[in-house]
Amino acid sequence: MSLHFKSTRGSGPFTFEEALLSGLAPDGGLFVPEAIPRVEFSDVLSAESFSELGFRALSFWIGDEVGEDTLRAIVESALDFPVPLVALEGPGWEDVHVLELFHGPTLSFKDFGARTMAGLMGHFLERRGERRTILVATSGDTGSAVADGFAGQSRIEVVLLYPRGKVSPMQEKQLIVDRPGVRVFAVDGDFDDCQRIVKEAFTDPRLAGRGLSSANSINVGRLLPQMLYYAWAVAQLGGRGPVFCVPSGNLGNLTAGILAHLSGLVAQYFIAAHNANDFFPRLLMGDDEASFQSTIPTLSNAMDVGAPSNFERLDHLLDRESMRRLIRGASVTDAETLASIRRVYEETGYVADPHTAVGLEAVRRMRRGEAAPVVVLATAHPAKFPETVEEAIGITPEAPARLARLWDEPTSFSVIGPRTDELAARV
Ligand SMILES: *Cc1c(COP(=O)(O)O)cnc(C)c1O
Repeated sequence: MSLHFKSTRGSGPFTFEEALLSGLAPDGGLFVPEAIPRVEFSDVLSAESFSELGFRALSFWIGDEVGEDTLRAIVESALDFPVPLVALEGPGWEDVHVLELFHGPTLSFKDFGARTMAGLMGHFLERRGERRTILVATSGDTGSAVADGFAGQSRIEVVLLYPRGKVSPMQEKQLIVDRPGVRVFAVDGDFDDCQRIVKEAFTDPRLAGRGLSSANSINVGRLLPQMLYYAWAVAQLGGRGPVFCVPSGNLGNLTAGILAHLSGLVAQYFIAAHNANDFFPRLLMGDDEASFQSTIPTLSNAMDVGAPSNFERLDHLLDRESMRRLIRGASVTDAETLASIRRVYEETGYVADPHTAVGLEAVRRMRRGEAAPVVVLATAHPAKFPETVEEAIGITPEAPARLARLWDEPTSFSVIGPRTDELAARV
């Protein structure tokens, strides 16, 4: 019997294929598994490679529906980069490990979800003989991961919108580099304009024939692959259940960790490490009045989310008491983020990006002589944020070859005003 999904707002059941291709449930809710499968982690954790582990774990979730051979091929081609667990060395950092999730093509953890989702979606569309246009508004890592992950999928075209002049030079270059099947629009406006255009496009009659689809972080196709590296970390630790610290914004990454745990993966507890956008840490610390906020810009900009969209899913999976038992929250300011990059570098020699630094600061604050190992998810490569790292430690992090090469590659994009009709006229 294969696994089914239902909406957090009640409708269902849906197949994985339906959940993947529609993104959001018809009643506006988020897809969650009807029942969480019990994963045989004793078998999963003995896998020799990351992609083998990924294949084994995902088989319990979607193996029946996708087919084991297809699933294996998709996972092998999507997750073909290293995922090192690095032990920090220095006083006070004993048994603290950094799980480097930034060795994929666009150097953030978003490559795991985007690449796997692209492979799965390509498979289902091929079988249906259908096409889709993925429409994404982005202010940072999501856009480049999605563009890169979906580029060259013959049945999928990608349309990216980003706020012109409001992303860093490095982020912009990663977005506009020429990719097959990807069209990029620099919108004269802010991120909210981009999001509004995407929202309006889905109901715009001029775009109705385009088979629009989204690839944002609420899609189950991105969520499920993000469980895999939690299991990989436990495997590297010889099966010891760690404290997982997750630098968080939209709470997709954390939700994936919770799903892995609920399906049987050992863990002590989770730390949700946020920047000044602190709705979730407040709630966890007992503030029942905590509510969504407008977004505050920070140095860890991929976590600048005032209203985390995955909260509805997390809230469905865990009652408030289990949530507070299983997850501890921390909120870290920009000054503390800079100090964290500096302190970790001085004490251990490790160079962290601003997002990972938020996680490391949360660990430093909350760790109280625990016997268990701690795993901090390193969500981005420090070379993606050279200005901040340099401000903190006076060193420009070395860019991997892939990032350095980017500056010589051809680009293509168009500039549009902040209006849906301008987009409709061009796609
Ligand atoms: C997206 C992102 C995050 C936040 O992840 P969520 O799943 O939205 O909580 C953290 N760090 C980096 C570098 C990111 O790109």
